[in-house]
Amino acid sequence: MTTRRPLVAGNWKMNGLERSAVELDKIIAGSRALPGVDLMVCPPATLLARFADLAAGSPVAIGGQDCHAQPAGAFTGDISAEMLEDAGATAVIVGHSERRQYHGETDVAVRAKAVAAARAGLLAIVCVGETRAEREAGRALAVVGAQVDGSVPDHGSFVIAYEPIWAIGTGLTPTPGDVAEMHGHIRARLSARFGAAGQGGRILYGGSVKPANAKELLTVANVDGALVGGASLVAAEFLAIASVYR
Ligand code: PEP
Repeated sequence: MTTRRPLVAGNWKMNGLERSAVELDKIIAGSRALPGVDLMVCPPATLLARFADLAAGSPVAIGGQDCHAQPAGAFTGDISAEMLEDAGATAVIVGHSERRQYHGETDVAVRAKAVAAARAGLLAIVCVGETRAEREAGRALAVVGAQVDGSVPDHGSFVIAYEPIWAIGTGLTPTPGDVAEMHGHIRARLSARFGAAGQGGRILYGGSVKPANAKELLTVANVDGALVGGASLVAAEFLAIASVYR
């Protein structure tokens, strides 16, 4: 049987100022009591190098929230995977639904970013998820399956984050049964494509994970951790979620 080490990653989105380092300090302190889970914080780019310095030598990894597909060039405002790595990141989120929605990112673009992450030696956290309309139309499995096929690269190390769009920041969550069905579907897709290696890939759940629902969601079959938005901004909440793996 394949054992997958769980990962709980915090996506700070466009939140966090210099003074927010105090929350990272608390996460680092709390991480020592959680040896059974990988912890990661993905701050805004402005805090990345500072957070990487603070977390150096600790069990807490630091990740970016997006990267450009190219290593360098005339792309004002963008950040390459190589720059993230240079700043101390070991991972990067790609294809978050907010990037897909507000920046028009397609599966092809997300895959190119995941390829860029691999080129720079970063772990790619590839996000997928259906809209409420797609779920209500009974198309969730097909939509997410197609996103997995289109967004996940052939090579490189990656984690998939299943994040139903309607659950992000809303307080709504799928039932454990729905999560089990979707994660089993993604696992089958990975196994069909990557063979035995598909059993080793981690599949995170994301969307309104809080301390109160973490156990119910994260103990579902084929759920190998969480991508946490709002609750990751408060160290106590983030650590309480990760404590499911204590
Ligand atoms: C996210 O945006 O990745 C996310 C899961 O957000 P939240 O936990 O706030 O729903």
